[in-house]
Amino acid sequence: MTAPRILRPPRILRPKGSGRLVLFCDHASNRIPAELGDLGLPPSELARHIAWDIGAAGVTEVLSEIFDAPAILCNTSRLVIDCNRHLHAADLIPEVSDGTVIPGNRHLSDAARATRIERWFQPYHDAVESVLLEREARGVPSFAVSIHSMTASLAGKARPWQIAVSSYLDRSLAEPLLAALRRPGDVVVGDNQPYDLDPEVDYSIPFHALRRSLPQIQVEFRQDEIPDAATQHRWARRFAQALMLCGAG
Ligand SMILES: [Zn+2]
Repeated sequence: MTAPRILRPPRILRPKGSGRLVLFCDHASNRIPAELGDLGLPPSELARHIAWDIGAAGVTEVLSEIFDAPAILCNTSRLVIDCNRHLHAADLIPEVSDGTVIPGNRHLSDAARATRIERWFQPYHDAVESVLLEREARGVPSFAVSIHSMTASLAGKARPWQIAVSSYLDRSLAEPLLAALRRPGDVVVGDNQPYDLDPEVDYSIPFHALRRSLPQIQVEFRQDEIPDAATQHRWARRFAQALMLCGAG
């Protein structure tokens, strides 16, 4: 008996949602497919941010509900394959992540790499494409929102930004969104800090949205701000309000 091509497909919420937003969450899950074992890592490492964007899936689910927006959530850990990296990127299947060696990713054969791409990279991006193409066919406009979360510190240095907007050349949505997030004056908002949107590094927004000239935004929520369902709801509502204020929602 041959193994099914897709062992566990990406999650798609509200594929026919009526909202303008199309949400995607590249690093939603820390799941390792059974056939890959634990990649040689203990559970403590698989619970860390190196395996997924902690809290991001919960925020994405709430935003999908608020806007009746399609949401595509990757169902596989970025340690298996990073769905926000180009296929040629050195860290597509990382051998080391934040100081942790990933034994199950070392010395992979070309065939093993191809299997990772076929089973856990392509189905996710096919799912995003299917949602966007179906909307294009119906003449429904789409605004792509890529949801990530970031660690509270990096290399021992605390990150002040509670939420951050990453943009590229087109700032037409980033500017009003940043203004809306900052207006109450109670949160620290990053503008291309700690990360900008880099088409050479990022894959999902460039491939799905920039290629089509869709309005787009990439957002990072700081992980210590969204540790549980209550805080994920609160931040999703805050972000949703800002999106509505700038006419994106
Ligand atoms: Zn991420």
